[in-house]
Amino acid sequence: MAKLLEGKPLAEAIKEKIRLDVAGMSKKPVLASVIVGDNAGAASYAKSQAKVAESLGIVYQLHALGNDTTEVTLVDFIKKLNNDKDVNGIIVQMPLPAQIDAKKISQLIAPEKDVEGMHPANMGKIVFEKSKVLPCTPAAVVELLNSTGVDLYGKEVVVVGHSEIVGKPVALLLLDKFATVTVCHIGTSKAGKLEEHVKKAEVLIVAVGRAGLIKGDWVKDGAIVIDVGINRVADKIVGDVEFEVAEKKASYITPVPGGVGPLTVTMLMRNLVELAK
Ligand code: NAD
Repeated sequence: MAKLLEGKPLAEAIKEKIRLDVAGMSKKPVLASVIVGDNAGAASYAKSQAKVAESLGIVYQLHALGNDTTEVTLVDFIKKLNNDKDVNGIIVQMPLPAQIDAKKISQLIAPEKDVEGMHPANMGKIVFEKSKVLPCTPAAVVELLNSTGVDLYGKEVVVVGHSEIVGKPVALLLLDKFATVTVCHIGTSKAGKLEEHVKKAEVLIVAVGRAGLIKGDWVKDGAIVIDVGINRVADKIVGDVEFEVAEKKASYITPVPGGVGPLTVTMLMRNLVELAK
């Protein structure tokens, strides 16, 4: 039976380090959070970020703009925050109203204030192992893997999902640990080859968003399984991996919810502190 890789205890340990870092700073770091409109999901993310920030001694500045904010107004607002010396990091809550191009906005945040680590300049630095900030979900995956103490050197790692926010950066980060990384995606499934790849994985990372995509009996004996997927099925949140069967085969497995999720906001705050240093 697999050991559970829970995000919460790990997040608490990392928060303790962040608190010490913040306490040693001459000025409290400031995170500017911009929310546009009245999306309930965005409001709830912002609320939980504010709570974590407060617990770490970080100043969380919430800027709420109306539903009818134009792209031009938001662009000006972000530019002002980019130039504000008191602001160390900026996050724009998603989703944005339809009249605003979300991609354009997130690329407008100055790379040195990009707490989400999603600016193309910061993404590019990952290739050169030089990035100060890492995208939050991939960073959470790496922390969970580190916590097992298993050396990834030469290990067969299979990443399922190749999005900009999870799959691609995770693959790059694990390459730097000298794992042999295979990235699967919709094309792999369409070619009927997903099972064959997953069965080889000593470390399996799944970020697709399809409940039950990965059958439990595909999981290799002793594999480490990180399930990033979030799916609502009959009022329950589940991942992409058939947990009940997979946990009998894996050595470590993340629960959903409770695995990757609880770590991501902590990664955001760690990025902020790195930028503020
Ligand atoms: P995305 O939609 O951007 O990308 C999905 C990926 O899955 C693509 O690479 C696509 O090719 C692949 N895919 C789709 N169908 C497939 C199939 N049948 N077989 C194999 N691959 C397939 O998704 P995303 O933004 O990377 O998010 C993926 C999942 O992770 C979602 O459930 C999302 O909610 C979750 N997520 C969780 C966190 C967290 O903090 N826990 C953070 C980000 C995303």
